[in-house]
Amino acid sequence: MKPTELEQLVEHYQGAIQLATTAVVLEQLEVELFHKKTGKLTSALRGLAKIPDVAERKQQGVIVNEAKKTLQQALQERREQLGVNHVKSALVLDPTLPAIAPPLGHIHPIRLVQNELVDIFRSMSFSVYEGNELETEDYCFEFLNIPPTHPARDLQDTFYLEPRRADGLKEVLRTHTSNMQVRLMRQFQPPLRVIVPGRVFRNEAIDASHEHTFYQMEGFVVDKNVSIGNLTYVLKLVMSKLLKSDVKVRLRPGYFPYVEPGFEADCSCTQCAGKGCSVCKQTGWVEMLGCGMTHPKVYEAAGYEAGKYTGFAFGVGLNRLAMLKYNIRDIRHFMSGDLRVIRQF
Ligand SMILES: [Zn+2]
Repeated sequence: MKPTELEQLVEHYQGAIQLATTAVVLEQLEVELFHKKTGKLTSALRGLAKIPDVAERKQQGVIVNEAKKTLQQALQERREQLGVNHVKSALVLDPTLPAIAPPLGHIHPIRLVQNELVDIFRSMSFSVYEGNELETEDYCFEFLNIPPTHPARDLQDTFYLEPRRADGLKEVLRTHTSNMQVRLMRQFQPPLRVIVPGRVFRNEAIDASHEHTFYQMEGFVVDKNVSIGNLTYVLKLVMSKLLKSDVKVRLRPGYFPYVEPGFEADCSCTQCAGKGCSVCKQTGWVEMLGCGMTHPKVYEAAGYEAGKYTGFAFGVGLNRLAMLKYNIRDIRHFMSGDLRVIRQF
């Protein structure tokens, strides 16, 4: 190698070392220069032996060794600047090591329960709709037989939007997924089997069992000659599939303006098989959802012929189901953003 070539080589690699930003690149540069067989500086050193004149060989030897020192020093300094340790190239470029997997997300427990319920209902030929989160008061309340004097309309429970729409209607953040009942009934004619999973909002003080934003699934059936027996059967089938055990369902009287009669549905406790435990508060039964036979006023709002159809509706809190299914004690965990919660699923 001629002295000018050597100079250029040093200059080129000094620049390259300065531009390197990772330990791997520095390692590659080091291999290019100092590899025992193919290294550029190694071959320059080897080339010295071919110089016949002893004095010239000595003189060249000093220059090449000087270049070697300069580049080694440059590598060392750059490593210190980047804060990377000198690792043997064999270790850095080991192609047999397993690849580093990118971090994967987790499915939220509410979504897991929702997906499972959607699968179960679809297998029973229910259709799935999502619907509006921003709703006018009539679909959220009036059409469901909830008059303006009803306590659910209270400012303390409902988020109202200001100002009113141009047509005079007030808009609200839907307080339940039932808002889709009349919307869908107006759009489609019976027979109807529908579920509506989605997010709902209440202007509530937050504690271990109350959130301002939570998830529900509305379900309803409209057909001829639908009975409470049909309702009980559907609930028993769905809950048994979801909780993976043969549960019993019992109905207690409950009041919801859009059903008559209305029920609170309980299912037998899967933790203690009805003997009594802390989950079921020693009763053997766990409160599951509200349901009932759809009120004629709702069909009237939908524009259906009076007395022609019967049907049932139910609304289940997905947060509550997820808490039961996964034994989560505090509803606030769902929206806390704490990844330690999510990573368990
Ligand atoms: Zn129990």
